[in-house]
Amino acid sequence: MEAVGKGVDSASERVEEIVGELRRSFTERRTVGYEWRVAQLKAILRMIEEREADFMAALYSDLSKPQMEAFLHEISLVRAACELLLKELKHWMKPQKVPTKITTFPSSACIVSEPLGVVLVISPWNYPFLLSLEPVIGAIAAGNAVVLKPSEVAPAMSALFAKVFPEYLDNSSIRVVEGGASETTVLLEQKWDKIFFTGNPKIGRIIMTAAAKNLTPVVLELGGKAPVVVDSNCDLKVAAKRIVVGKWGCNNGQACVSPDYIITTKSFALQLVNALKNTLEAFYGKDPLESKDLSRIVNSNHFERLTRLLDEVEVSDKVVHGGQRNKELLFIAPTLLLDPPLDSLIMQEEIFGPLLPILTVDKVEDSFDIINTGTKPLAAYLFTKNKKLQKKFVMTTSTGAILINDIALQIANPNLPFGGVGESGMGSYHGKFSFDAFSHKKGVLVRGFGGEARARYPPYTPMKQKL
Ligand code: NAD
Repeated sequence: MEAVGKGVDSASERVEEIVGELRRSFTERRTVGYEWRVAQLKAILRMIEEREADFMAALYSDLSKPQMEAFLHEISLVRAACELLLKELKHWMKPQKVPTKITTFPSSACIVSEPLGVVLVISPWNYPFLLSLEPVIGAIAAGNAVVLKPSEVAPAMSALFAKVFPEYLDNSSIRVVEGGASETTVLLEQKWDKIFFTGNPKIGRIIMTAAAKNLTPVVLELGGKAPVVVDSNCDLKVAAKRIVVGKWGCNNGQACVSPDYIITTKSFALQLVNALKNTLEAFYGKDPLESKDLSRIVNSNHFERLTRLLDEVEVSDKVVHGGQRNKELLFIAPTLLLDPPLDSLIMQEEIFGPLLPILTVDKVEDSFDIINTGTKPLAAYLFTKNKKLQKKFVMTTSTGAILINDIALQIANPNLPFGGVGESGMGSYHGKFSFDAFSHKKGVLVRGFGGEARARYPPYTPMKQKL
């Protein structure tokens, strides 16, 4: 672990020292050249290849994440992101020519992507590999020095990053600082050129407040309640499979793009509940507590939080499937609830776990009003064959992203920006958007000494004003 020392003073001094070293490195332009960026990105690919088993073991230790999920949703996504950056970087780094206007004739104009400096990446516990490395590779590709602060709630991954980063990466420009809220507070006292934060909107506010002191720009990748609208005009079998794998097959619901609640029509609800039940049983067996294909709840705090949400509605008999739990193993079975009260905790807070409420409405269009009266989610989903409904959903729902007829797959297309709006965040990344998130777009206009327009210069005679 990168020791930040015991006690506030020594912690601050250690962090100051690290940031000072990184700033020197950036000022000496060590991180700016194409070769350095490529060397670091290739080193990350080598690190993933050589230490894959260690990363998988850390994901298992922190979350019991099934191997298939760990590989598909964490390892392979980071590898693909890194490969894309390596392929496109030279092209993206080139100044981008833009047209000029007659008012500046003769001239040429371009946009130069300039590294920002020393940046801080703060990551969460739920996808501790992906959500740490993907922003870090964006920062490196854009030519920045970077500190990664992984989540203390995924301690195995955090310790592993602290161990392997110095073995593979340029320690003078890329560092890991471990710790929780107090260590992050110490980090936030420093001046950064960008802070990239993934986590809870409540902590996002703390980050933004700290950043404001130095006018540091932020990207906030936050969460929210992602709705899934299911229209009766859909292929229910396929929809049920995709909802189940998108909810419980993604870290057992502990994912920012996980379906938080479903809305369907009263007349279709029973069919939908049955389809979901059958699919859950087909995927995870009759006793899901025995399934090896589900992640556990990350820790006892989150287990308690989720059982509180469940207990409140269980009293009112809304659980239509699941509900089993095992406190020792930190395991809660996939659980469906039908029409919990809108003012219950489960409908007020981001669930971030294996519970899935289903709300019913008279007409499918009524669901749009429910979504639009809440805070803006990170993702919204619709299952329907009805093209008009699809279009209406896209045009009237304000959300980080929309996916029609599937769940969570929007993150797998690097041509789409990944980020929230309103309460679900600001800024975006993935693919070229990652490079842009960590670059300043410097406008450059170049003129020669010809093309003098006399009207531009005083004295502003009446004749000049007529021109
Ligand atoms: P969190 O906000 O509790 O923690 C995120 C990071 O902030 C951690 O590194 C943590 O150490 C640090 N932190 C915690 N308390 C702090 C404080 N008081 N001051 C400074 N730093 C502090 O979030 P989490 O529990 O790790 O993750 C779950 C949340 O993150 C959910 O809301 C989820 O939707 C969101 N999330 C969003 C995305 C996305 O890409 N938009 C991805 C994953 C998770």
